[in-house]
Amino acid sequence: MKNSVLDAKHFHDEEAAYAYLEARVWPNGPVCPHCGGVDRVGKLKGKSTRVGVWKCYQCRKPFRVTVGTVFEASHVPLRLWLQAVHLMASSKKGISANQLHRVLGVTLKTAWFMAHRIREAMRVVGVEPMGNLGEVVEIDETVIGRQEGHGGIKGYGAKAHMNTVLALVQRDGSARTFHVDGTAIAHLLPIIRANVAREANVMTDEASWYKSMNKDGSFASHQAVTHSEYEYVRGDVHTNTVEGYFSVFKRGMKGVYQHCAEKHLHRYLSEFDFRYSNRLALGIDDMARADRALKGIVGKRLTYRQTGH
Ligand SMILES: [Zn+2]
Repeated sequence: MKNSVLDAKHFHDEEAAYAYLEARVWPNGPVCPHCGGVDRVGKLKGKSTRVGVWKCYQCRKPFRVTVGTVFEASHVPLRLWLQAVHLMASSKKGISANQLHRVLGVTLKTAWFMAHRIREAMRVVGVEPMGNLGEVVEIDETVIGRQEGHGGIKGYGAKAHMNTVLALVQRDGSARTFHVDGTAIAHLLPIIRANVAREANVMTDEASWYKSMNKDGSFASHQAVTHSEYEYVRGDVHTNTVEGYFSVFKRGMKGVYQHCAEKHLHRYLSEFDFRYSNRLALGIDDMARADRALKGIVGKRLTYRQTGH
């Protein structure tokens, strides 16, 4: 019988958890976060020493692999962090703070905070524009709203409580989504231009705000399908990929994150983008996906203030 993924030692043993994370954050060996030293660094051993502590003999300071990461200054054992990352990376529609709280045995407040830190680790930074080799980039937007009974006023402009999400999805590639102020092209175009390459072939539906998006030739091409006339596919022109993204996103947000506050929406978007951009169809399995999230913990330390707590 194949071993359970959850049997892995780094999910149960603190020593193994540190070794696992160190191998991923420091592929070329330990680096002192205080002075950048790599040569005169040694592991602190002995009964009174806490797990995972190294010492830099250049600057004389001790450090751990978690310094400067989203795991820093947390009292949660690292093995539980690794469990949480695995759960979030492998659950297609996400996992609620409530379920993390029950599975990990941490308080609900801690589970909520851990989930937001992990979303931060999943946030992509400094990447190439999409479609820069002439690929198709599908663009669409959707609204996501509060559920009834959560602040909506019956019969009074339901859209006032809706949030607009813009999605850019490269066919056979990654996804980037944004919480935007509305569908005016003045809001959308700067985001699209900043994230989609000139070489890209852009596809949208017939929505009026996309009509003028390529009038100055910002992209290799722009084609639209006319959903209002029941045209969904014309040759290879369609927006089925981005609609597939939205369908997973909406099912997750409805089923798992029904109490998402508007100010946190961008964090959930990072999480769904991350899983989509690192999906099995691109050859990335659950373990590899969790490892990619772990690589993202560096340099993104979050405080309570930043999470709006
Ligand atoms: Zn040092």
